[in-house]
Amino acid sequence: MPVRVVTVLFIMWVVSSPIIAEEIPPIPATDDEVVEDLPYSQQTAQALWQPMDRTKPVSVVDAGGRKALRMPCHFQGTRVDRASWDRRLNLDLAWRTGLQFLFHCRDATPVANFSVYLHSGDGWYRGNFDALSTTMWTPVQIHKKDMAVEGHPAGWGRVDTIRISAWRGQDVDTEFYIAAIGLFGRGGKIAVVHNDSVAGSAPGELDTVRRYTDVMTQFLDRVGLSYVVVSDLDVTPEKLKGTKLVILPYNPKMPDTAVDGVTKFLGEGGKLIACYHLPKALEPVVGIRNGGHVPQKCAGYFSSVRPSEKSLEGMPSVTGQSSWNINEMSPVEGRSYVAAWWHADDGQSTGKPAIIVSDNCICLTHVLVPDDQANKSRLLLAMVGHLVPELRREAASGAMGRIGEFGPYKDYDAAYRGIHGLVSSPSEALSALQSADERRRQGLALLSEGQFSKAIVAAEEAQQFMIHAYCLAQTPFPGEHRAFWCHSAFGVDGMDWDHAIKLLADNGFTAVLPNMLWGGVAFYKSDVLPTSATVGERGDQIELCLAACKRYGVQCHIWKVNYNMGWATDKAFVAQRKAEGRTQVNYDGSPNDQWLCPSHRENQKLEIESMLEVARKYEVNGLHFDYIRYPDREGCFCRGCRTRFETAIGRNVRNWPADVRNDDDLVQKWLDFRRQQITTIVAAVAERARQIRPGIKISAAVFQNWLADRDSVGQDWRIWCQQRYLDFVCPMDYTASASQFRHLIEQQLAWAGKVPCYPGIGLSTWSDPTDICRLIEQINVTRQLKTGGFTVFNYGPAEATKVLPMLGEGMTQRQ
Ligand SMILES: [Zn+2]
Repeated sequence: MPVRVVTVLFIMWVVSSPIIAEEIPPIPATDDEVVEDLPYSQQTAQALWQPMDRTKPVSVVDAGGRKALRMPCHFQGTRVDRASWDRRLNLDLAWRTGLQFLFHCRDATPVANFSVYLHSGDGWYRGNFDALSTTMWTPVQIHKKDMAVEGHPAGWGRVDTIRISAWRGQDVDTEFYIAAIGLFGRGGKIAVVHNDSVAGSAPGELDTVRRYTDVMTQFLDRVGLSYVVVSDLDVTPEKLKGTKLVILPYNPKMPDTAVDGVTKFLGEGGKLIACYHLPKALEPVVGIRNGGHVPQKCAGYFSSVRPSEKSLEGMPSVTGQSSWNINEMSPVEGRSYVAAWWHADDGQSTGKPAIIVSDNCICLTHVLVPDDQANKSRLLLAMVGHLVPELRREAASGAMGRIGEFGPYKDYDAAYRGIHGLVSSPSEALSALQSADERRRQGLALLSEGQFSKAIVAAEEAQQFMIHAYCLAQTPFPGEHRAFWCHSAFGVDGMDWDHAIKLLADNGFTAVLPNMLWGGVAFYKSDVLPTSATVGERGDQIELCLAACKRYGVQCHIWKVNYNMGWATDKAFVAQRKAEGRTQVNYDGSPNDQWLCPSHRENQKLEIESMLEVARKYEVNGLHFDYIRYPDREGCFCRGCRTRFETAIGRNVRNWPADVRNDDDLVQKWLDFRRQQITTIVAAVAERARQIRPGIKISAAVFQNWLADRDSVGQDWRIWCQQRYLDFVCPMDYTASASQFRHLIEQQLAWAGKVPCYPGIGLSTWSDPTDICRLIEQINVTRQLKTGGFTVFNYGPAEATKVLPMLGEGMTQRQ
């Protein structure tokens, strides 16, 4: 599932003068630090901003007395993948939070997305930002921590080139403007070290490094501590001056220079938190010993962190943390001690240290995992506050300041007034609001008395009351289609189908889309696909789910992952399909064994018959397509595809496969051929399923940008709506940004036409998959756009127990 890697701030400046068409709005004045204010002539600008390949040159324009770069995107009738410009510019972002600029693009629809690249050493840092049409100037901030690493960059301190790229979305020209390029965020008392250098020494670790650096920064954000993410390539004693605490979130291979830097920093009174890995050379410096790798004995073995007799102030009595292994570090007599132990899910101590504390360092014997966020935040705060007590004050006043900062509200007063305005008479919502207010007053008193840990607990409770009041104050919208996708064929982990469906019904949901079949496996008794062995142990999952749905009046639409054979498909089945020439081959000739070739007649038959079997055997409300597309542009170039394509166009292709990408006569024919293979399945299933079970609903989960995706992955869903193959469509609009979400749906409603469009909300893809306020915000967008419903991804344990009941209290309250 796609995860957004870049945070874009959609704060719009209000421009006082009216905007005349074709005119660029005046660039607003900012106090921000600008590194590139374009103080040069047209000619110099064109020399400095080198266009790539067939990109057109930039020009400098005047907008309200300030200068902007005009960047033309020439896509119409061309085959360029992107419009892109390089500017050589030395930038030092080592101790900065990221890069920012002002952006304006009247029509961004021809652009799939924008990227900013920063070149350093032998590599790049890459960040994306969404393509949003704007009538005004929009500030864009790209955080270093969200940027991906390509090749072997030499650190953020040595950036020498900035590249701006607009990726082709449609065969239409457009242009965009950039102004006031600058840096934001500076220094901080906490430095989180990102183990960048593994890109060279252990590239396989890069994703994991990134993930756990992310988790750490999300927890720091949550507790309101400011920090800077620094590359291990930029860590030197000079740069660490002013820093109080260094955090190693997951640093399996630190370069010697960075270890030396941290050693000197500790020698001068600095403090360290190290998770999972403690560089060997630091052992004598911090007085904590490394140990061996210890895997879990069984599932649930490392399940919580609990204080020892000598714990840290503010540490929760139980912090849930499902770890699968640890590094068994140990204390050194007289220098360090165990502050917390690992406990198994039966509550028993494992006797393995979880947290070890010395004078200048705290080691956690695993990485921070993003479960049990409330207690985990307090645990982290206890660790930070123990080492650097002054940070407790910062966190406590930050926590107090954040009460009421959620959903549409910017602070406590706005939230209090806003929620009060939503409810007219005395109600549960008002009493929750009152409790929030009381708890906040207590928190403020504790803060002024210097009782920071207690103030933080009070602030968190006040925030919870506030959010609860906000949920209670929402009202349901009658007649709405409210659905959850359920990715597991066995429903919600820890619940049976009956329980899971009852919860949906009790909280006003009308439909569920359970994933019961893949390209090569079925989780029910199938005569068409291999039946999963787990069906023998746990029963026919469609039967169980459907029985519950009937009992509680919830619609059941069976979700198939098409073509993709997935994790559960028997390896022998995959190998057999490959031997028969039925699996995909990429453009470069490499195999893509997990995917069935969509043009192979037997595969088409398998896709169609497997779905029809469900309609025939079970009284389902609907059939739901997913992965109903090619994996990407690279498929499928198998021998069968060549033959079938040549038959379809009535002639041979001389240079296969290059000609289908380069020969003007073949390009469109090839793209049409791919679309046709996919559309055939949708049409056949729709027609025949409706004969088998009149009234059955056909639906599909689709990509966001039909215009681009019909070419890239052959998914031509506008046609499916026009032809009424679909009864409703669910674009997977997984974004954390409400404005991006709105922008996507506005386009999609036009493509869906008269067919209902129930947008997919990416709850489980967000950094906090229990973010009820963001969910309410996005449901409100679907209501404002009159979609008639929405589809939430995904129905899992946290969503079922933490999110759903809160929605049911107001937003989706059962009528
Ligand atoms: Zn093929």
